[in-house]
Amino acid sequence: MDQMHTMEELVAELNKYNYHYYTLDAPLVSDKEYDVLYDKLLALETQSGIALPDSPTQRVGGELLKGFTPHRHLAPLWSLDKAQNIEQLRSWNTRVLKLVNDYNTKNPERPLPAPCYAVELKFDGLTLNLTYEGGKLVQAATRGNGVVGEGILAQVKTIKSVPLTIPFKDGLIEVQGEGIMNLSVLADYNTRAAEPLKNARNGAAGALRNLNPKLTAERRLNAYFYNVGYAEGTQFADHQEMMNFLRTNQFKVNPYLTYFENFDDVTEQLAEIEEKRASLDYLIDGAVIKVTDFRIREVLGYTDKFPRWAVAYKFEAEETTTILESVSWNVGRTGKVTPLARVEAVELAGVTVQNCTLNNVGDIERKNLKFALGTRVFIRRSNDVIPEILGKVTEESDGGEIIYPVDCPACGFPLEMRGAHLFCNNKLNCKPQIISRITHYASRDAMDIETFSDKTAGQLYEELNVREPADLYELKLEQLVKLERFGEKKADNLLKALEESKGRDLASFLYALGIPNTGKATTRMLADHFRSLDAVMNATVEELTGLPDVGGIVAESIVSYFADPFIVTGINRLLELGVQPKEPEAPRQVSTDSFFSGKTVVLTGTLHKLTRDEAAERLEALGAKVSGSVSKKTDLVIAGEKAGSKLAKAQQLGITVIDDEDELLRLLES
Ligand code: NAD
Repeated sequence: MDQMHTMEELVAELNKYNYHYYTLDAPLVSDKEYDVLYDKLLALETQSGIALPDSPTQRVGGELLKGFTPHRHLAPLWSLDKAQNIEQLRSWNTRVLKLVNDYNTKNPERPLPAPCYAVELKFDGLTLNLTYEGGKLVQAATRGNGVVGEGILAQVKTIKSVPLTIPFKDGLIEVQGEGIMNLSVLADYNTRAAEPLKNARNGAAGALRNLNPKLTAERRLNAYFYNVGYAEGTQFADHQEMMNFLRTNQFKVNPYLTYFENFDDVTEQLAEIEEKRASLDYLIDGAVIKVTDFRIREVLGYTDKFPRWAVAYKFEAEETTTILESVSWNVGRTGKVTPLARVEAVELAGVTVQNCTLNNVGDIERKNLKFALGTRVFIRRSNDVIPEILGKVTEESDGGEIIYPVDCPACGFPLEMRGAHLFCNNKLNCKPQIISRITHYASRDAMDIETFSDKTAGQLYEELNVREPADLYELKLEQLVKLERFGEKKADNLLKALEESKGRDLASFLYALGIPNTGKATTRMLADHFRSLDAVMNATVEELTGLPDVGGIVAESIVSYFADPFIVTGINRLLELGVQPKEPEAPRQVSTDSFFSGKTVVLTGTLHKLTRDEAAERLEALGAKVSGSVSKKTDLVIAGEKAGSKLAKAQQLGITVIDDEDELLRLLES
């Protein structure tokens, strides 16, 4: 009875979430949270052998929205079985092989071939079902409940890549794909939208299921097609033939589509897709593995909800919800004061998240978060950066107010609002600004002062009055040894490191200065182009905007930076104290006849005798192409200490690995 009660509660809760997700396109929980409850219900149903009639495990999708003409699909549309790890995926394959085997035992005269597999991306958008009659697009529908969907022809016609007519004119066909919003389009849309979209999936789904096609058009949607669900007058032997049919008929087919005979190769491909995920311009929440042969598909058939011949391999979720607890304000190197949110600890993509970024005051306003303290918010983590708060789960302003500071939280100086950001203009006396300027100056990509950290900068600020980078070069051994945690050895090492830093190259020095809006790539380009500090300092906006990748904002930033007398005095002091940025010699010559020429090389792990940047630079000078990720195209992986997944992948793919730094140096020099 107890179990029954739990099942009833889960069904009610999941159906509520389904309504918000499928019908309103405004979910109340993340997919990750939904999936946990769904799996719990499924386990109880398997255990008890009972499924309630309105259980979400027994049906596809959700209710239809009123206002759209219902469309009865010519053949049903399905959901997908899912595997959350390789083990579950292998169990799926074992079931497939067993069913094929059973069939072959019973039908020895016409056995099925061994299954082959197609691996596709699992796009996170809205299912589209397009109907063509005599080559003309006559209807487009959502999946709905799998049998009947909402007719959204006018909305789908706003997707420019959807063909309105196709060469195939012989009969009635239905083609399925996913309507998506590209992430670059979403980012651009959100810079202008009065109300930013929380994510690309809801952005696409909400726009397609909107009665006003003008609004759909504004979202500039895209679509990929992956199935012919119904075809009169044509037949396919396998997935390859079907996908060729889609291509020939000018449907947009995603390039990441691979075929495998061996199931182990499928798992390898999944690792590759997962690595690519962050660089794709659209959301995917996994990959779909499909048995290619249509005879096998027919034999395997369908459950009430999904085909037995396909499975979705789900990647680690990137989104979840949690409670926004408080907001603190941090002063950065350039004086920008940014909000940092503290959230109730929550697991996301394998780590516990407690801090999230809120970007700036403008962002808080636009995301309707001004009154969100203590309420539930969506958060998203991509790559390894600190997760971002996407918005409030509900629309109401029912939480505590986030109060914006009026004065600098560090030094008390009145703050200025510039654009969407708050700034503290007290450059000379605001401690966190000074400490981060000095820490940045000393950092690895800048002057690379070994063992120097923000703690060192803080201690030198407090105890030895260090206020700007130049002060570092006036430090004396007798002063340093007196500091806490600073024995003679440490003091000596710091002085040596400082001495060594005086000869860093011009690009590193320019980067160390921390010119606003100017990153590493730009400072390197400036150094290579102007080849002297003086020339960079005297460059005009016109000269700068003439350079590759330098826009008006960057050019203005550089010119106004060097026009500031405080900055110029600081630079002159550095030069007087012996800093001599090494100017680049003649343009770099790329060698074509070294061991590395023409090879694609990946660097991973920690090197000790040279930095990764130096190694990359030398490899490039020897004609190598240095890449960030390991793939079949990689020729060589250089693995330093603590190399992780990239090394494992290289070994898996049988790529040559150099894991001895001396060997690397020998090859670089020979
Ligand atoms: P699904 O999303 O797991 O898989 C089926 C769908 O995948 C298809 O309809 C199709 O549109 C899509 N798809 C993308 N790429 C594909 C490809 N290459 N080949 C075939 N299909 C492809 O199943 P579902 O039934 O639509 O939804 C269930 C999932 O939706 C849940 O696991 C959950 O994550 C999410 N959900 C979330 C909430 C919520 O409140 N957050 C509520 C309901 C469902």
